[in-house]
Amino acid sequence: MHISVVGTGYVGLPAGTGLASRGNQVTCIDIDEEKVEKINNGDCPIYEEDLPELLEEMVSQGKLSATTNTAEAVADSDITFLAVGTPMNNDGSINLEYIKQAAEDAAEGIKEKDGYHVFVVKSTVVPTTTEEEIIPILEVVSGKKAGEDFGVCMNPEFLREGTALNDFLEPDRIVIGELDEKSGDTLEKVYSEFDAPIMRTSLKAAELIKYASNSLLATKISFINEIGNLCKELGIDVYEVADGVGMDHRVKRDFLDSGAGFGGSCFPKDVRALASFMEDQGEEPRILEDTISVNEDQKTKLVEQLEDHYPDLSGKKIAVLGLSFKPGTDDIRQSPAIDIISELKELGAQIKAYDPKAIENMKEKHPDVEYTSSYEEALEDTDAGLIVTDWDEFNAIDRGDLQTMNKALLLEGRRMSYDVDEENREGITWP
Ligand code: NAD
Repeated sequence: MHISVVGTGYVGLPAGTGLASRGNQVTCIDIDEEKVEKINNGDCPIYEEDLPELLEEMVSQGKLSATTNTAEAVADSDITFLAVGTPMNNDGSINLEYIKQAAEDAAEGIKEKDGYHVFVVKSTVVPTTTEEEIIPILEVVSGKKAGEDFGVCMNPEFLREGTALNDFLEPDRIVIGELDEKSGDTLEKVYSEFDAPIMRTSLKAAELIKYASNSLLATKISFINEIGNLCKELGIDVYEVADGVGMDHRVKRDFLDSGAGFGGSCFPKDVRALASFMEDQGEEPRILEDTISVNEDQKTKLVEQLEDHYPDLSGKKIAVLGLSFKPGTDDIRQSPAIDIISELKELGAQIKAYDPKAIENMKEKHPDVEYTSSYEEALEDTDAGLIVTDWDEFNAIDRGDLQTMNKALLLEGRRMSYDVDEENREGITWP
């Protein structure tokens, strides 16, 4: 099939590359010329496990290319995925500016086209958006009728950054929200080579499945963090509690790793967008509000813990290890590290920061921090180290590294398995 994908971010690019590897001819579209040029040179513009290699292979085999010309790429394809960002407005509601623009640009492509075309909303959008916002744009701009001249699906994406390509290619399930049977049948063909159960449903149910999934996972994290804060008071290891709870098959152990809270481009904005949408519908999002507020407090708990050791942080040298919101990605969106650095700066600390992938991105948020090229360099001559992201390489920290510090103290916002004496380490929600 000829497929066009609008948006080459953390969803669009793994999806486009993955679909090319399954025998499709794929054109990726972006308004960012630099990204487009990089892709056409076989260079991956984002860091994601295994993606650079597969992308280079697909480009060199002529199965994947990129363009800034949306209308042309849409006209030359059978099906178009809309995978642009749907960020958060200041009031927490969803910002549909980019997806509406992308729909407008894409609809231009079918104005003169003969034959059937299917548009697939892959971006995360609140229920009823596809029906009430996207379809009217597609119809007005193309001058054609949805359900007659073209089809529409809503196909939420559940991939996790860090393992985006693999998650896209091997999902737990594929949810297809469809305007009509013909639209759904066409999209189902795209996934015919995928080994995953396919659920077909309405457009708005598909939209809500995505929000309900993310909100439940985020709630699990805030829940275990609340239990973790109690564990800290009682001298209990919250990971033991999580293991005991997670052995119950009704609960499952996943997403019960307590720590410095969730970040990223999805959980914080999606929980807020769902809460805001519920309020618009006259429903009170009580659990969602608590999930958000527990998480906000959790993000800077590590600094409070640091103040127990140094009531006055002014002039203290602190190493911040890990800047991305999770390991395996260079994405810092809503990363706890952003808030931790802000708070440390406010308290007058001197910061040395290190991350294997995310330094360039963090420099845009915090240009005035000293960035180092290794964790060893970051720890040297500091009064404490904060582990904010559990990059695997930090597990190699050892007693030798601690000897280079002014005070051998590691505060862990993420659970680590390095060989460091207990008196030199302390967990955020564990002893
Ligand atoms: P992103 O910000 O990484 O990428 C979006 C891309 O779209 C950018 O490259 C931007 O230049 C491009 N773009 C914007 N407007 C455009 C237009 N009119 N035409 C062409 N390109 C345009 O976003 P993302 O993280 O890939 O997320 C995309 C959607 O998928 C969002 O709705 C998000 O909530 C959802 N989602 C994200 C993840 C994730 O882990 N990042 C997971 C599941 C779902």
